[in-house]
Amino acid sequence: MRLATIVTPVGDRAHVRTRAGYVDVATALGDERFTSLASLLAAGPEAMLPLRTADGPAIDPATARLAATIPNPGKVICIGRNYLEHALEGGSPPPTWPETFLRVTDSLMAPLDDVVVPSNTEQFDFEGELGIVIGWGGRHVPASRAMEVIAGYVVCNDYSARDWQRAASQWTPGKNFDGSMPVGPELVTSDEVDPRDVLLETRLNGEVMQSARTSLLIFDIPTIIEYVSSFTTLRPGDLIATGTPGGVGFARTPPVYLRAGDMVEVSIEGVGIIRNRMVPDGSPPSLSPWRPLAKMRQTVASQPSATTGRD
Ligand code: ZN
Repeated sequence: MRLATIVTPVGDRAHVRTRAGYVDVATALGDERFTSLASLLAAGPEAMLPLRTADGPAIDPATARLAATIPNPGKVICIGRNYLEHALEGGSPPPTWPETFLRVTDSLMAPLDDVVVPSNTEQFDFEGELGIVIGWGGRHVPASRAMEVIAGYVVCNDYSARDWQRAASQWTPGKNFDGSMPVGPELVTSDEVDPRDVLLETRLNGEVMQSARTSLLIFDIPTIIEYVSSFTTLRPGDLIATGTPGGVGFARTPPVYLRAGDMVEVSIEGVGIIRNRMVPDGSPPSLSPWRPLAKMRQTVASQPSATTGRD
């Protein structure tokens, strides 16, 4: 089954994809509690069963405006450096313990909308990733039962401001610019796709930048679920981004950073394609005094020179 959140005149609402198009979930189930996908997932797998034969007025997928598939998850957990090639290109050995960070929900966005390249970063980069959406959830889920707590999968792009990511030891700001993680296009339920060995590709202006099979994940999907649920309770609608393969912009020679006008696409076999055009930031760079690279240059310039040892 393919579920999506669609922008409608009465707000963003959960829809199921049928042969006729997108059908409103709450209307099909005759229950207004199910206007959001998270509430549908919370009701358990049985609540979804009638959707398999859902009928009713449908929205044409060609004209539907998609919102982030899960617009407001309880938590967004991201795994860093989870492909060997990406760890190495960043100058790190492969992790022996999962690198984990959080995203706030304001950083999520619709899968096909324009992405604002923030005016206060000089190093805006892409990271195509497979996202896991939790269904039933739980705490201390063993790897052997991990697949049971997953509702399905989405495509994500973990857009990252590298200068902000590296300015301090914590990655939070560089990974949390407003609207820097498109999620979608649809939640593809686990009975329809098994993404443990599928191709993930990121294309920049049509050129393939990242291409890897998800079987190359250092910590695979069951291990990630086991690990994350060992410290936090996974709840319906929670999103886990599983990490990006090699080929990101900062590690290239010369580095490739995103500019207004660029088009970035991430596709995952059996899950879907998300696509974003980069657009300029309306706010002037002078709006914020916080510019990591400018600060770094200033610090280097004000350090005592090697020849005089002072000033
Ligand atoms: Zn990432």
